[in-house]
Amino acid sequence: MEKWPLGVFASLDAGLGVHLDVAHELGVPTIHLHAPSRESRTPQKAQEFLARLHELNIKISVVFGGFEGESYADIPTTRRTVGLVPPETRAARTAEMKEISDFAKLLGVSIVGLHVGFVPHDPQDPMYDDVVRVTREVCDHAKKNGQAVHLETGQESADTLQKFIGDVARDNLFVNFDPANMILYGSGEPLVALKKIGSYVRSVHCKDALWSSQPGNSWGTEMPLGEGAVGMEAYLRTLDEIGYRGPLTIEREIPQDRPRQKAEIGRAIKLLSELKQRLG
Ligand code: MG
Repeated sequence: MEKWPLGVFASLDAGLGVHLDVAHELGVPTIHLHAPSRESRTPQKAQEFLARLHELNIKISVVFGGFEGESYADIPTTRRTVGLVPPETRAARTAEMKEISDFAKLLGVSIVGLHVGFVPHDPQDPMYDDVVRVTREVCDHAKKNGQAVHLETGQESADTLQKFIGDVARDNLFVNFDPANMILYGSGEPLVALKKIGSYVRSVHCKDALWSSQPGNSWGTEMPLGEGAVGMEAYLRTLDEIGYRGPLTIEREIPQDRPRQKAEIGRAIKLLSELKQRLG
C-alpha cells in the first residue's frame, strides 16, 4: 500500500464528517466513516453504499461508532454524555457498538473506532472496572468479526490510555491518534504522547487546535490544519519515526458551515500533500 494515503472523515446520515460526494470532489482515496443511523445499517444499504464507494474509488479504513445523546458542548457535558462511560446508557451503547461492528463487517471494514468516553483516571474508581469490562466485550465481539478496535485519543493522558489498554488486555485493541484532541481536552503535549503510545497507533486523524487558557477545564479551539499548535511537519515526522504508514485522515468538525469545511479541507489536503512529498 502507498504510504500515507490521504483521507477525510465522512458521514452518510449521522455525524460531523463531510458527505461522500464532497470526499469524492476532494479527490481522496480513503475515508473514516461515521457509522450511519440504525435504520441505515442494513445489508441492503451496505450493498448500495459499497457500490457507490466502488464507483467513486474510495475505500473505508475505519468505521467510527457514535451514539445518540452524545454532546461535545463543553468538557463537563462531554464527560457526562460521551461513549461507553455514562452508566445510564452504557449497556445500550455497548450493544449498539456491536451492531456497528457487524455493519462494518458487511462493508468489509476491519477496524471500528470509538470515543470510549472519559475513562476515570483513578483505577480505584469503581466505574473504571465497568468501562474495562464493556471495552473487552466490544473487543471480543469485533474479534469475531475479524476486526480491531481503535480508541480515539483525547480525554486521557498517554499514561492513562496506556494503562487502560493494558488492563483491557485484548490483542485487537489499538489507538486512533488525534493530536488536536489532546490539545482541546488539555490532556498533554500531543507529540510526546504519540511517541509514548506509538506502538498502539494504527490510525490517525489530522486535526489542529489551540490550547485553552485553562487546559482541561474549558475547550481549546479547533483550527484549520496548520494553523493550530500541533505542528503538522513535526506530527508527520513523528508518525514516520513510529513507523506509521497508514492513511492520514483529515477531520474538520464544522458541519454548520459546509462550504468553509470543504475549502479548509481542500487546503489541508494541499498542506499534507506537500509535507508528504518532502518527508514521505
Ligand atoms: Mg478525531
